[in-house]
Amino acid sequence: MGQKLTREDVLFSQRLWKCQGLYRGVLDGQWGPKTESAAREADLAAAALRKIGTFDGRTEAAIAGLHLLAQERARRLLDLARTNGFAAKIISGTRTYAEQNALYRQGRFGNPGPRVTKARGGQSNHNFAIAWDIGLFDSAGRYLAGNSDEELAEYRRLAANVRASGLELEWGGDWKFVDVPHYQLPTGGRSVSETRKLFEAGLPYV
Ligand SMILES: [Zn+2]
Repeated sequence: MGQKLTREDVLFSQRLWKCQGLYRGVLDGQWGPKTESAAREADLAAAALRKIGTFDGRTEAAIAGLHLLAQERARRLLDLARTNGFAAKIISGTRTYAEQNALYRQGRFGNPGPRVTKARGGQSNHNFAIAWDIGLFDSAGRYLAGNSDEELAEYRRLAANVRASGLELEWGGDWKFVDVPHYQLPTGGRSVSETRKLFEAGLPYV
């Protein structure tokens, strides 16, 4: 998100906080006292989760944009990764609808870069603050993009550790459209469009 909050940015935060019972005002995209109070409550709850473990700046910034339940699980996952000797960061977390649309346009409509998503704004769990992508790095700090069997194996090894730990997360490596960096809170089989309706109405969805 940019430095200056747009109405859409404020609306996004209001929805996210309302779904968690932190915001009790109307979903109007206007930053008022009730939004300010929700922001403070969210900050306090987020700070309490830091006792699980703290990480690099990029990861911390990504965690800060997640639903509080996702913040907790993401910290537990990263702590588990660290304990098991992985150099892991969160390289992508929450995306607003506008950010998702910009990503969708990459590699399409004559735009440069590889196609990295099939989802438009409102069609990805990244848009509801319950999904994040892990980047793994080797001992020299080189990013493992997952372009070789060896690199993919590292992502699978991490996922096996996560599964063995009992941490309740869905992993993109289990999907038909395989996405090994991707983790998300379980959505109980609810479709993305159903989650979207709940999110936009400010109702609980996880
Ligand atoms: Zn993802």
